[in-house]
Amino acid sequence: MKYDYKIKYSSRKTLGIRISPEEGIVVLAPYRCNKIYIEKLLEEKNQWIEKNYLEILELRKYMGDRNNIDNIMFLGQTYPVVLRYSSLKKSSVEFSENTLYVRLNGILQFNEDNRIKELKTAIKTWYLNSAYIILSERTLYHAQKLGLKYNNISIKNVKSRWGSCSSKGNLNYNIKLMLMPLEVIDYIVVHELSHLVHMNHSKDFWDHVEKYMPDYKVREEKLKSLSHEVKIYWKF
Ligand SMILES: [Zn+2]
Repeated sequence: MKYDYKIKYSSRKTLGIRISPEEGIVVLAPYRCNKIYIEKLLEEKNQWIEKNYLEILELRKYMGDRNNIDNIMFLGQTYPVVLRYSSLKKSSVEFSENTLYVRLNGILQFNEDNRIKELKTAIKTWYLNSAYIILSERTLYHAQKLGLKYNNISIKNVKSRWGSCSSKGNLNYNIKLMLMPLEVIDYIVVHELSHLVHMNHSKDFWDHVEKYMPDYKVREEKLKSLSHEVKIYWKF
């Protein structure tokens, strides 16, 4: 086996392989499994491992070090983060000329843990504010064109869902949408707004989406293909 791998023993009955950006190649083995069997499995699955592992290495380039935030993803693009220090207690974040400038209190230079914590908090707050501005604007825009009325919008840091719509007409969006290109964000907005008309994923619902946004399937595909990358990239 030409790649490094880890073995995790447990009470499971069969051998398995798991490949993830966080852990690399992990062989899941029953307790007291002979290493010969593990090597044999790795040989058999060689092609599959190679293909998946190379994809993971690609993804790892995006991930970088989880504590080293030298770039951000915003609306489908990557921008550098420039860190500066000031005498002000409060941190500030400003996006200008395709760069995210973060100013932290100078004292944080001397404490690595606190610096990273504050840097992440400051950037997350900036994402949250940007999400409110952009998603409020996009929702209002599409709602007016669709002739729909909604109640409130809220932004949440949730794991799986990109958006949801309650029966009271409240729209919830995932903060990680800010990493997606605008055409994907617009699709989610239109999708959730369409739930104000059809509270399900029936044919009528999809017809409603398609009538207004004929290329929604392309956008949905884009959302799917970027989901993994975005979730890995999110460090906040
Ligand atoms: Zn839906």
